Amino acid sequence: RIGDHYVPSATAPSTLAALDQIRDNPALPPADHPSCADYKAKGGFKILKDLQNGTLTAEGIIDSLKESGHRGLGGAGFPHAMKITSVLSVPGPRYMAVNADESEPGTFKDRYFMNRNPYQFLEGMLIGAELVDAREIFIFLRDEYPDTAALLHQAIGEIQILGLNRGRPIHLRRGAGAYICGEESAMLESLEGKRALPRHKPPFPAHVGLFGQPTLINNVETLYWLPEILTKGADWYKSDGRHGSKGFRTFSLSGHVNKPGVYTTPAGITARELIDEYGGGMKEGHAFKAYLPGGASGGLLPASMADIPLDFGTLEKHGCFIGSAAVIVLSDQDNLKDVARNLMRFFEDESCGQCTPCRAGTEKAVKLMQDDQWDRPLLEELSHVMQSASICGLGQAAPNGLLSLFKYFPEEMK
Ligand code: SF4
Repeated sequence: RIGDHYVPSATAPSTLAALDQIRDNPALPPADHPSCADYKAKGGFKILKDLQNGTLTAEGIIDSLKESGHRGLGGAGFPHAMKITSVLSVPGPRYMAVNADESEPGTFKDRYFMNRNPYQFLEGMLIGAELVDAREIFIFLRDEYPDTAALLHQAIGEIQILGLNRGRPIHLRRGAGAYICGEESAMLESLEGKRALPRHKPPFPAHVGLFGQPTLINNVETLYWLPEILTKGADWYKSDGRHGSKGFRTFSLSGHVNKPGVYTTPAGITARELIDEYGGGMKEGHAFKAYLPGGASGGLLPASMADIPLDFGTLEKHGCFIGSAAVIVLSDQDNLKDVARNLMRFFEDESCGQCTPCRAGTEKAVKLMQDDQWDRPLLEELSHVMQSASICGLGQAAPNGLLSLFKYFPEEMK
């Protein structure tokens, strides 16, 4: 039953040029990936099979995940094991939904993982489905990744031929370019065939999710690492990390650096270490001025704060968040007021329009930010209404860039 809603894209979408740029980036590995047979020969699918034949138990796997401290890598950072147990606390039938709608500006790591080894990602997905005894699995893939769609289509066919899904239907669904579909409850609405309007929470999707049933929702990268963590153990995972963090983290690094790309680094690395050790330093003629630690939503920090760990807790203390770990590096050649205005325009465009604080708030903010002199008290008041009264994370995070500008770059306001 795969592919019932999947039509291979023969025509190049307008973003193909951008995808080619990423693909041709020498910082990324080549697009080739192991075959299904290669993956199997190197021990792939062992954890899945051990779980299916009873050598491993769901309880044992959940305990290992708890011990590793593995967290969701889509943005919210919810502990992985806790999410599984929350889904299991409600009687079935249950579903599994994979969020592959990677659309946070500056984020391209999930595409990299799916292209690098689709079988490892799919094994992680099938382990998740086994753990919660999901009736069906839905993958929601962003439409701008036609090469990944073709790859997954083929790989899903192969794992079905091998019977690894044990008859469990796997649906590969394409998004249609709406950023809001990355919000988990909007994604569920879209999967149900409705307009992607985020739901009020609670109830949370773990309890009332797809078709009103308990649903395990995981991000691609979260699932990608699952077989490896379970094979190598919690101690292996925890042995990495810097500045008090444990494990590793994958960043999409872009902006004015010499080597933009996808980098897996020790968790807790700082922006300066990421730029210097992995990104090849700043491009010639550019002085490091500021960075977005979490794409369009995570706020804006000055270069003078590039030595704080890029982790969930530390950034929150500074009014920012790491989200999907998209670090965008800005230089002295960037006008930060333009950056903040551009971010707000993005949220205005992508607001689903369901609630007034976000729909009207982003529109009003963009208008106010077009003035030469910004009305700071009014923009701050508007921002606080958006943060506190919007239904979902889009409206709540929309003013983060603007508020960071006020807080950390007062000289830009003169
Ligand atoms: Fe829609 Fe924005 Fe409200 Fe979210 S916050 S429900 S995107 S209008």
